[in-house]
Amino acid sequence: MSLVRIVAALALVTGLSAALIVPPASPAQPAPDAGAGQPEFSLEDLDALLEEDELEESVASLSGAEIGDIVGMALVLGFAVFSFMRKSVALKYVSFAASIAYLGFYKSNLVSIVNIFAILEGNFPDVRHSIAWYLLIGFTAVSTVLWGRLYCGRICAFGAFTQLLDRIVPARLRFDPPPRLDRRLAYLKYVILGAVLLYFLASSDFLVYRYVEPFWMFTLNGNVVMWTLLGTLLLATIVIRNLYCRYLCSVGAALGLISNLTVFKIKRWQECQGCKICEKACEWGAIDGPTISLAECVRCDDCERLYHDEQKCVHWLILHKKPKTQPAAS
Ligand code: SF4
Ligand code: SF4
Repeated sequence: MSLVRIVAALALVTGLSAALIVPPASPAQPAPDAGAGQPEFSLEDLDALLEEDELEESVASLSGAEIGDIVGMALVLGFAVFSFMRKSVALKYVSFAASIAYLGFYKSNLVSIVNIFAILEGNFPDVRHSIAWYLLIGFTAVSTVLWGRLYCGRICAFGAFTQLLDRIVPARLRFDPPPRLDRRLAYLKYVILGAVLLYFLASSDFLVYRYVEPFWMFTLNGNVVMWTLLGTLLLATIVIRNLYCRYLCSVGAALGLISNLTVFKIKRWQECQGCKICEKACEWGAIDGPTISLAECVRCDDCERLYHDEQKCVHWLILHKKPKTQPAAS
């Protein structure tokens, strides 16, 4: 116990003792001031002192590596939000590179189905030594409620890796599943999420993650089966863009469910009813006519940048045309 805590405890005990052993004042003597000479500590004061003391201990006990983790995580997350707010393609790619390098290969710290297992079991790491982990999980939860699957569109190192891969793969190698098939396949990830959770609840075998998510690849540490599955997945991803994220990822499925709560949704114009420009541009199959599927959208910005493009977006083209035609009609 630290000095502050000992002193506070002694002060409280001393104060209580004094109150108990001081004899009642004689009526012949003037009544002493009720508070005079007694320590003014209440239980609330002691609690506050103890909390302050624990905070000091927590901060003091953080190692240099832990402080580095917190700063690194805050920078990656902060930059991702900055790039998202700026709607900049260049900044988005910088954000991808930071996620792959730092969260992927350097820290191997991605949101995983294992985190969902831990939450189900109420098994949380010690806050004092896992602040970076709480930052990542807290950011993912809060940003998903605010904007939808921003984690998938910007932070997840595997998602960033496959999105960058998509940029270097020749378009002629790509196959886009027809929209109806795409929508059906998108349900597969929810089936996988449900099956894995049931398996875990029945067996407590958290190692199942190795066969349902490829995030371990950033550790470069897998067995033959895992590497074979990963190789097959990456080859298939060359042909069908974002294949794992769209159809197979259980974390993406869980975030997709939370995304239905999205507060700040993407704006749609009335003209989006008939226009297909954004629907064709969306690489995630999230747009169906005038509707954006909150569960599938990863806030990649592609459609939002189109909305703001006054040379391409039908909404703006009509708006710019109106002033020219109106004077002629009158
Ligand atoms: S769907 Fe899964 S792999 Fe893809 S970006 Fe989201 S969490 Fe990462
Ligand atoms: S293009 Fe628009 S709807 Fe499609 S994923 Fe990107 S932000 Fe979401």
